Amino acid sequence: MSKIINKLRVLVVEDNQSTADTIKAYLERMDIREPLMAASGQAAIELFKKNRPDIVLLDVMLPDIDGFEVAKQIRALEQGGDWAAIIFLTNQAKDEDLARGIEVGGDDYLIKPVSEVVLNSKVRAMRRLVEMQRMLVDVTHQMGTANMELQRLSTTDGLTGIANRRFFDESLLREWRRCTRMGAAMSLIMIDVDHFKLYNDTYGHQAGDECLKAVAKQAALSITRATDMAARYGGEEFVLILGETDLNDAKWVANLVRQHISDLRLPHEASEFEHVTISCGVVSVKPNVKLPLETFVHSADHALYLAKKQGRNCVVSGEYGQVGQA
Ligand code: GH3
Ligand code: MG
Ligand code: MG
Ligand code: MG
Repeated sequence: MSKIINKLRVLVVEDNQSTADTIKAYLERMDIREPLMAASGQAAIELFKKNRPDIVLLDVMLPDIDGFEVAKQIRALEQGGDWAAIIFLTNQAKDEDLARGIEVGGDDYLIKPVSEVVLNSKVRAMRRLVEMQRMLVDVTHQMGTANMELQRLSTTDGLTGIANRRFFDESLLREWRRCTRMGAAMSLIMIDVDHFKLYNDTYGHQAGDECLKAVAKQAALSITRATDMAARYGGEEFVLILGETDLNDAKWVANLVRQHISDLRLPHEASEFEHVTISCGVVSVKPNVKLPLETFVHSADHALYLAKKQGRNCVVSGEYGQVGQA
């Protein structure tokens, strides 16, 4: 952030000593202290690299490489948001020279002998440009940051901090397609907190929220691969996507999460278990282009329903489309 220039850094590239001295004196009267001075093209490029000045006053005729070449090299050195104003110093204003100066990256020119008033105005104008350019870079940067934050907010659940339903839907489809291409199995675990209405009724909604956070945390801890995902499906329901995972491994993960949540021993006096528990529905499939994705989610939902029916705090599993048909 910033960036109004406090101290304008100016580089003067001029091989004629008396012209250089005059310009230096003018600049110092404009309160630009200690301008950088170079008497050759090479020296100018070295000073530019080291000091990154805001404005370069650049003589066209230099003993080594000419000013146009210097300007080209300076432009090549600038990256990202870097930008310095370049003002050419020239003896006669030949149209072709001016055109070439702009073409190689110059911004303006001054005819020698340099008038103090004209130098003063041009430096002020360039200063304004440099400041505007810096602000533009800042704003662009801030927009980038804001966009990233927006992206994060649009994919995260506000209460628990894990992926939200929207992001889950997107990720499930992506993983479904990926596993279809790979001919690999994938699994889904639907999690639902047992007797959560009673939990809210007993301990209050705020305690309920804390409980959901704890469950989400355990769910998130249980996944390890980059392609796995834990998401809040809605209310007190969570879901895990496990790519390249068959039914046996998925059951194992579901039981682990169930056990870990039970081990937290969060008091729940209205429940027959006397602490917070979850039920899980697990389903696996080797997806192919003929299978509808919806049936995958419905199967997991149905397995979860059966787990509730079997008495809660348990895991029910099955293959795609066959859950509960033993
Ligand atoms: P079951 O064991 O059959 O799942 O019973 P349950 O009481 O958990 O299920 P039910 O669907 O009847 O109730 C879910 C409750 O979850 C009701 C709702 O108020 C509560 N709930 C949903 N979202 C939130 C939330 O963000 N915070 C809190 N505190 N409660 C929530
Ligand atoms: Mg010269
Ligand atoms: Mg529910
Ligand atoms: Mg519930």
